[in-house]
Amino acid sequence: MNLDKAKQALKRYFGYDQFRPLQAEIIRAIFAGKDALVLMPTGGGKSVCFQIPAVTMPGTCVVVSPLISLMKDQVEGLRANGIQAAFLNSAIDSREQLKVEESFYAGALNLLYVSPEKLVSGNFVSILKRGKINLFAIDEAHCISAWGHDFRPEYTQMGMLKQHFPQVPVIALTATADKLTRKDIVDQLKLEEPGIFIASFDRPNLSLEVRPGQQRLGQIQEFVQKHPKQAGIIYCLSRKTAEDVAAKLAQQGLKAEAYHAGLSPDRRSKIQDNFINDNIHIICATVAFGMGIDKSNVRWVIHYNLPKNLEGYYQEIGRAGRDGAKADTLLFYSFADVSMLRDIIQNGENAAQNEIQLVKLERMQQYAESLACRRRILLAYFSENLSKNCGNCDICRNPPQYIDGTQIAQKALSAVYRVNEQVPMGMLIDVLRGSGRKEIRQLGYDTIKTYGAGRDLSQWDWQQYLMQLVNLGYLEIAYDANSVLRLTAASHEVLFKSRTVQLVKPSSYKERQEEEKAA
Ligand code: ADP
Ligand code: ZN
Repeated sequence: MNLDKAKQALKRYFGYDQFRPLQAEIIRAIFAGKDALVLMPTGGGKSVCFQIPAVTMPGTCVVVSPLISLMKDQVEGLRANGIQAAFLNSAIDSREQLKVEESFYAGALNLLYVSPEKLVSGNFVSILKRGKINLFAIDEAHCISAWGHDFRPEYTQMGMLKQHFPQVPVIALTATADKLTRKDIVDQLKLEEPGIFIASFDRPNLSLEVRPGQQRLGQIQEFVQKHPKQAGIIYCLSRKTAEDVAAKLAQQGLKAEAYHAGLSPDRRSKIQDNFINDNIHIICATVAFGMGIDKSNVRWVIHYNLPKNLEGYYQEIGRAGRDGAKADTLLFYSFADVSMLRDIIQNGENAAQNEIQLVKLERMQQYAESLACRRRILLAYFSENLSKNCGNCDICRNPPQYIDGTQIAQKALSAVYRVNEQVPMGMLIDVLRGSGRKEIRQLGYDTIKTYGAGRDLSQWDWQQYLMQLVNLGYLEIAYDANSVLRLTAASHEVLFKSRTVQLVKPSSYKERQEEEKAA
């Protein structure tokens, strides 16, 4: 099989004249019977890498995809382009299934999409053995790895494909896989000396910004006003938050809707359609939204809550600006979110999985707290090195300024000392700022010496300074004890040995806005 034929097929079935970077190399490898691992960002054009071999080689390409809800649309899309495709999953009745099997046996299918459940069920291998398969494509291949961010147990049985079909090449595709996940994919699928194809993940048109998660709603309203009538997605951790945020924005006359797994399939597809057709501008969604949504002009993505890991985060912000035009992303970061996510993870059943997820959460947190170019950190996570700072993240636009933070540290640490290491960050800030909250009076914190000693700084600034003190090791958060702040050995040096502390001046986002206006 030669590449000219592939190029003709690209034109004939998809209407494109050129392959994108890597597509041709990948297809060439498959033509040569090689296994392949493909890492390409969402929207990068992974499907073409197996669809072109599927339509040019004799036999059927079997595609394993966990996105059952999208299978029907994908298959219909292919059929509309004149490609013979069908799918099998739990949503299909047995009569329909038989029909699909018959056409597979008859060699009448270019592509057969199956869900992982179907693939590993009972006698499915014997069904597969009755047809002629030219390629296995494992989509969303990171699901195979406990290191991946979306682990699916059924995927771990797919190593059997190589055992049953040693002659058939396997192509594994994913949009997100760090080094360990990659290795896991290759090992578990038993790929043989696979070609490894990694496209650049850099999306320079996406601006990156992180803000402390206070008064998020007000900030969002302001943000949305600056993006009038533009399509955007607000990711929330819970259904309730998604609904609350949507309701608040709708009250302001904005076209916003909540989207989550609690809605009926009908309602969900209606919302999707309305969003795609620009009848709705803002979707407030749980992570259920966006898998496979092909809307190129999403102009912004906000994370109301901290995502669980960088893979998820990058995938979600990646839904903005697919047309290549400038798009803005904003992540809200709060310790409350970190604690909540920790709880969720620690309640998971699989202890080894929980450990991995906690490490990933830590990386997410480091990103949010970073004082260096965020894009460099993000891409480094996916093993890609940027040679210079990006100029399109909040840190690049507003480089940190160091100040002598010794006094600030002393105030904070002595407050922690005087409340007997019994309060979490939010309340410590209230004590430092002399809040009149009833709880504080009841606990007698209004009588300690540092009560109100930090009035000169805003709540916002305090949160940032305290986070820095944690990162520098001067304070600890006791996650096992309601996230109260505790002193460390290093804190004693600050308190009693007048050790100096360098801190970064927090740039309030108001300040930043003014600077941007002036620029
Ligand atoms: P992924 O699976 O990586 O998210 P898709 O395979 O769905 O991406 O491709 C994303 C979009 O890019 C689709 O609209 C697809 O038709 C388009 N596309 C893929 N390959 C090419 C190409 N060579 N030239 C132009 N557009 C392409
Ligand atoms: Zn940057």
